[in-house]
Amino acid sequence: MCAVSQEELNVYKSAEARFEYAAQKMSLEDGVYRYLKYPSKEITVYLPVAMDDGRLEVFIGYRVLHSSVRGPGKGGIRFAPDVSIDEVRALAAWMTWKCAVVNIPFGGAKGGVICDPSKLSKTELERITRRYTGELSDWFGPERDVPAPDIGTNDQTMAWVMDTYSMHVRQATTAVVTGKPLELGGSLGRKEATGRGVMMCCDNALAKLKMKKDGCRVIIQGFGNVGSQAAILMHKAGYKIIGLADIHGGLYNDKGFDVPKVIDWVYTQGKKLHDFPGGGDKQSSKDVLFHPTDILIPAATENQITTENASRVDCKILCEGANGPVTSHADPIIENKGIFVIPDILGNAGGVTVSYFEWVQDRQGFFWRESEVNERLQDVMDQSFDQVVRYAESHGVNNRIAAYIMAIDRVARALKLRGIYA
Ligand code: NAD
Repeated sequence: MCAVSQEELNVYKSAEARFEYAAQKMSLEDGVYRYLKYPSKEITVYLPVAMDDGRLEVFIGYRVLHSSVRGPGKGGIRFAPDVSIDEVRALAAWMTWKCAVVNIPFGGAKGGVICDPSKLSKTELERITRRYTGELSDWFGPERDVPAPDIGTNDQTMAWVMDTYSMHVRQATTAVVTGKPLELGGSLGRKEATGRGVMMCCDNALAKLKMKKDGCRVIIQGFGNVGSQAAILMHKAGYKIIGLADIHGGLYNDKGFDVPKVIDWVYTQGKKLHDFPGGGDKQSSKDVLFHPTDILIPAATENQITTENASRVDCKILCEGANGPVTSHADPIIENKGIFVIPDILGNAGGVTVSYFEWVQDRQGFFWRESEVNERLQDVMDQSFDQVVRYAESHGVNNRIAAYIMAIDRVARALKLRGIYA
């Protein structure tokens, strides 16, 4: 087996490789290429935080604004031990392309703090969040840059961001973040939105490939916000979930899991996914990816499918719930297998779409029924899926490159109309 190079695992390089390929395919003008290749601005913040035991720690945080050409920056805040500036840069660029693919009026941004939330108390997490937000209070804003949850952060984190920002600007400003609790201007349907968007893409792919939903086998890696919501919604819709995994391990059961029971086990009883007693063979989080299945949904983290293991992927549809789960080096291996790929910038765009709905509702002070949110999400996902797949077919490129080209073209057109301020 070949070892995977550091170059392959650098997500910024992966994002750049796809951008470069798409730019060349669409003959993107040189100046526009240079403009969109780099982030607009980035910042590193050093966060002094008093720990519960009285120690003073300093955490390192980042925020990158890739583009505000089509609207305010939009992108999550990640709390994880392996956060790096390159990762945040890649995620920020992907947000620009994702917002453009689903045609919502945001640019792209992302942030992160190097920390391990599993080893921190709630009060320590609150102090990290508040200091991070305080350092960035001039940077954030409903018209400037609007954060949301990502790995290691949740609706409580967003409530702290909203409160800290509001204290700085001296007025309650709910639209500064999305993914908030409902009591603070959150949107119905936001918690489920990314998983729901994943399911909508899979529904569309099944229709396209003339496959049946009932009993269609699905493997999902990642059992956090995206993975667990995709699992429960798809289970209810008639899909058969045969593989599940989180960071601690995986489970495989070819008869299909009773997903509500797994959710209860993990989320109500607080037990480990791989100890679930209702059937399933224990295995590593990676191995679960390689069973034969109709649909594979990596919904955990980056770089799960690489040149080292891509040949073992055995599915008809690969829908990326996570950002960057397949390295750019592994793209050709997956493509040569004839797998129908729903790229991250489309597959997981349901989250940012409902974040946009949340931002709209906050600014209007008028809130929608859940059915309205879901119907509007369905419209956006169906239309975006259709546009990407049609572009791919008519231009002889794969779905990922079609999505990049559509996105880059939308941003480039907006940039041309705005012109360059100098
Ligand atoms: P989360 O923190 O809620 O859950 C992450 C899940 O992945 C957990 O179950 C964790 O145990 C598992 N995991 C982490 N590392 C793993 C590994 N190496 N192997 C197997 N499992 C692993 O995060 P989330 O919000 O569900 O985000 C998951 C992915 O989806 C990320 O790539 C994120 O950027 C992307 N995403 C999230 C949203 C959103 O709305 N939350 C929107 C778009 C994209």
